Amino acid sequence: MDTCIFCKIANKEIPSEFIFEDDKVFVIKDINPKAPIHYLIVSKEHIQSIIHLEDNHQEIISKMIFAAKSVAEKFGLKGYKLVFNVGKEGGQVIDHLHLHLLGGWPR
Ligand code: 5GP
Ligand code: ZN
Repeated sequence: MDTCIFCKIANKEIPSEFIFEDDKVFVIKDINPKAPIHYLIVSKEHIQSIIHLEDNHQEIISKMIFAAKSVAEKFGLKGYKLVFNVGKEGGQVIDHLHLHLLGGWPR
C-alpha cells in the first residue's frame, strides 16, 4: 500500500533512523513521543492491525516482542510499557501494525 507512511519508511522512501532491524521488523523513534523514551516497533509487512493477524504472522509478533526487549536493554530500561493500539476504537491512528515501547519515567 503506497499511501501508508510506515510502508514508505520500511521501503526507505522516507529516510528514518532504524534503532533496530531484522528481517521482519524495524524500530524507529516516535515523532511525537508520549513518554521520555518512545519507540515504535513496526512490521516490515503491511498488516493493518492485530485484528488482521493470521496464523502465518506468528513469527512477526514474536520478533516484535524480542525487538522491544532488545531495544529496552540497549537503553538500559529496567521497566517499560508495551502497547498495541488496536483499531480506531482502540486509539490506532496508523493502520500498519506497530508496537509502542514507552519508558524512561523518573522513579
Ligand atoms: P497509533 O495511535 O496508530 O498506535 O500510533 C501511531 C504513532 O505513530 C503515534 O504515536 C505517532 O506519534 C507516530 N507517528 C505518526 N507519524 C509518524 C512518522 O511519520 N514517523 C514516526 N517516527 N512516527 C510517527
Ligand atoms: Zn503499511
